[in-house]
Amino acid sequence: MWLRVVLIAAFSVLATAAAAEKTNLLYAQQVTAAAARPITIPDKLWPQIEPDTRAEPILFKKRKLRKGSVCGDINIQGKPVGNVSSKVKACGVKDAVEITSIAGVALSRPSVMECGTAIALNEWVEETVKPTFKRRGPVVELQVAAHYACRTRNNRKGARISEHGKGRAIDISGFKMADGEVVTVLKGWRKNPSQSQLIKIWRGACGPFGTVLGPNSDRFHRDHFHLDTARYRRGPYCR
Ligand SMILES: [Zn+2]
Repeated sequence: MWLRVVLIAAFSVLATAAAAEKTNLLYAQQVTAAAARPITIPDKLWPQIEPDTRAEPILFKKRKLRKGSVCGDINIQGKPVGNVSSKVKACGVKDAVEITSIAGVALSRPSVMECGTAIALNEWVEETVKPTFKRRGPVVELQVAAHYACRTRNNRKGARISEHGKGRAIDISGFKMADGEVVTVLKGWRKNPSQSQLIKIWRGACGPFGTVLGPNSDRFHRDHFHLDTARYRRGPYCR
């Protein structure tokens, strides 16, 4: 390739030179002669072809991750479980997935939800939960208090069916760090440094999720964050 470029350059010099003075012609001949000489490349410039011991496991891991991913995102690990039906008409999930880990953070139990909820969860974990616990953690597990369940809001008789009954909600009660420490909503909400971290995390859920309820909302949520993807015309509802 380079030899070709050099040759083309040399010949164009030659062509220009031919029309010019004789001294220039002599110069062009020298250039051509130089270009025609075989080029030797020093050994150290050849690419070092050695098996990359790191590349293979990474590729293998990626392939494995893609195989276990759902909702079109490698970060969302789990399996499709099809349609979840219920005797109660208002309950059930279409094209449900059972999630085991999100953005490399495990769920304490496999959790059934819609892809839209898994995608919101991924956004929240990636953009808020992981960065908030970066120094204290890393965070390795979300403690799931509830996921899909056909029940009414706050389990009250006669109340409307909860978003949990539609696969659009998840309740998180704590965050486990790599060293085994668990930051719970119940205890952490009352004192620092957990308090400011949990407030940050609670606030960060507002946006990816349409409804976010924490200890400040009511007595039903003093020990967990309720996150669901129900949308309101007036924007997210976060308390
Ligand atoms: Zn809930």
